[in-house]
Amino acid sequence: MGSTTCGGCGKQVYDKLSKCPYCRKSLSSVTSLSSAAQLEADRINSLDLSNKWKKCFVLIAKAGGPDVPQLKQLSPKERRTIGFNLLAFLFGPIYYLLKGLWRQASVYFALTVFGISVVDAVGLEQMDRMVGGMASIFYGVRANISYYRRAVLGETFWL
Ligand SMILES: [Zn+2]
Repeated sequence: MGSTTCGGCGKQVYDKLSKCPYCRKSLSSVTSLSSAAQLEADRINSLDLSNKWKKCFVLIAKAGGPDVPQLKQLSPKERRTIGFNLLAFLFGPIYYLLKGLWRQASVYFALTVFGISVVDAVGLEQMDRMVGGMASIFYGVRANISYYRRAVLGETFWL
């Protein structure tokens, strides 16, 4: 009996099934993973991570890794899954610290403070919020990729 990796949740499933028994995604409509992405997906599924993170990381692997060169192969929903992390957007550096990304958190935080002091120095205090808002968006956009690098690739640094 053959098995295949579900493109929806990344679990190993019997390849004759029409739907994934875990996430109910139709298997025939799932784009097949490249063999490199398949290997990476298998490795991700063996890591000690929550299913939510495994799913997100399998999608990043499917998109070709942290630089996501094959992002276009993902569906819009899949792109949203990896593209934005709401908790990181809301909690910024605190979220990064909780994920063990303290180096990134310190650098981003220092850059934010620096950005705010620059706009203050040139007399544009009203732009403080804008700098803070941009930093929040940056945390939200970068978190999944940064955590992928740390948790999947074992890179302690960098962006
Ligand atoms: Zn599934």
